[in-house]
Amino acid sequence: MDLISSLALYFCLTCAILFLIGLSYSAIVFWIEKENRASFRATLIALFLPIPYFLSWHYAWEIVAIILFIDFILTAIAFCIPLSTPENRTDSFPKTQIDERDIMFSRNELKPGSQRYEEYYSKNPIRKATDDEFRKEAGLLSKKSIFYNSLAYAASNASFYTVDQFKNAIDGPVNPEKEKISPERMFEFLTGWSKKLGALNIGFTKIENYHYYSHKGRGENYGQEIKEHHKYAIVFTVEMTQEMVAAAPQASIVMESGQQYLEAGRIAIQIGQFLRSLGYAAKAHIDGNYEVICPLVARDAGLGEIGRMGLLMTPKEGPRVRLGIITTNFKVPVHKYQQNHNLLDFCNRCKKCADICPSKSISFDGPKQVSGIKRWQINSEACFTYWAKAGTDCGRCMATCPYAHPDNLLHNSIRWGIKHSPLFRRIAVPLDDFFYGRKPKSADMPNWIKEN
Ligand code: SF4
Ligand code: SF4
Repeated sequence: MDLISSLALYFCLTCAILFLIGLSYSAIVFWIEKENRASFRATLIALFLPIPYFLSWHYAWEIVAIILFIDFILTAIAFCIPLSTPENRTDSFPKTQIDERDIMFSRNELKPGSQRYEEYYSKNPIRKATDDEFRKEAGLLSKKSIFYNSLAYAASNASFYTVDQFKNAIDGPVNPEKEKISPERMFEFLTGWSKKLGALNIGFTKIENYHYYSHKGRGENYGQEIKEHHKYAIVFTVEMTQEMVAAAPQASIVMESGQQYLEAGRIAIQIGQFLRSLGYAAKAHIDGNYEVICPLVARDAGLGEIGRMGLLMTPKEGPRVRLGIITTNFKVPVHKYQQNHNLLDFCNRCKKCADICPSKSISFDGPKQVSGIKRWQINSEACFTYWAKAGTDCGRCMATCPYAHPDNLLHNSIRWGIKHSPLFRRIAVPLDDFFYGRKPKSADMPNWIKEN
């Protein structure tokens, strides 16, 4: 009994010290991240939680110490119990292709009275009423929009203008003298080089029919059938800076989107040119010039899973990324898609993005069958109509997602818990709500962006 008692007492002292250090560290991290509510709450817990443990050790309350020790052991066991996770879905792959003319960016470019406009809505009359709604609003980056900021909008326009200048470099002549390079050597080189260029993660997949749009929906080749498919895709992520995203839907979000579309475009153009110079056909897919559906290709390349908000959820930055893609005929070593059950399970429970969405575009329900694939689908018309009012690409869902917190020891530990413990997945959302709030307010934009 003496041995058990002294073990329990030292356990209490250790817990008191660990709680104090861990929670103080959390409070400091929250404070650095300008999350004042979370920092205040972590400070309070850091002050009070260690007290019973410390008192038990100090006054040698053996019975209390043993109870706390047993409680700790039982809790540790509970976190390891393999509670149910979603079943292995067989319907993860779309059966049909999407026509790019149907996506909101293409429909937004249809000018009333133009031939394209008349043709599109005569074939799709059901879409006319909803599309007329967003046309009544001020529009993206418009002076009359809610979050108009002259400098931030001009900076965003500058980024979109620059990425548009890349369009003539997305493809080009292929060197007739082919270099012999092994797939493994290419994998190693591209993994290292892409990170040097600014990518976070890179993945490789075999191209399937459903990855490609059936027809072009933007630019000069509008309506053209996309017949030429490459065999492989190289996909990478670039990070959207937390500070710029946290203030969404204010103007910093659209500045950051423009900047990261530009970064992704630049890297994709460089890798595409690199492959063609080595003798392999390759095409960069960049903002305004995509022939493939980026989140699906990225998912199949092993970079994440498609979550409730319809974006790619990566294991470390969640949806706080943009994607760049190069399709090629170089035979890269490919990833075989496997469902990320933990992430899907967490998304099933969380629903914070659905709660926060100002246009109520995100469903609270479970995934549904859409074109042969079971997934969440947002109401893209309602979402785009809000963008047209706001003037920015909103991103409130992205800013609020518990997976999108910054890449550091504190948040990575939480993501580790979500990945490995079914019980932790169940308590992670209430914990996130406790520290940040269920519907947290937008952060302030950096001072240099704010208008007086
Ligand atoms: S906020 Fe929650 S439900 Fe929405 S995508 Fe992120 S993890 Fe999933
Ligand atoms: S971008 Fe904004 S409007 Fe669109 S789904 Fe996300 S939160 Fe809703």
